[in-house]
Amino acid sequence: MVKIMIDTDKCTGCETCANTCPVGLYEIVDAKAVPENVDECLVCRACEAQCPEGAIQVIE
Ligand code: SF4
Ligand code: SF4
Repeated sequence: MVKIMIDTDKCTGCETCANTCPVGLYEIVDAKAVPENVDECLVCRACEAQCPEGAIQVIE
């Protein structure tokens, strides 16, 4: 089971994760990234790698 942790103190709502995720898992709500339907995550870690703030952790 995959968990996605967003450090909301670091997240700037830049939408990079939303634009990067191949399964469109991120919504931006009130300028913060919110992962939805986490069960669909492919664990490709693209979001983790691309977040300019290092705010995402994908945990298996
Ligand atoms: S890429 Fe990082 S900083 Fe940008 S919206 Fe996603 S979690 Fe927030
Ligand atoms: S690890 Fe890949 S599939 Fe999962 S949320 Fe990040 S970009 Fe999307």
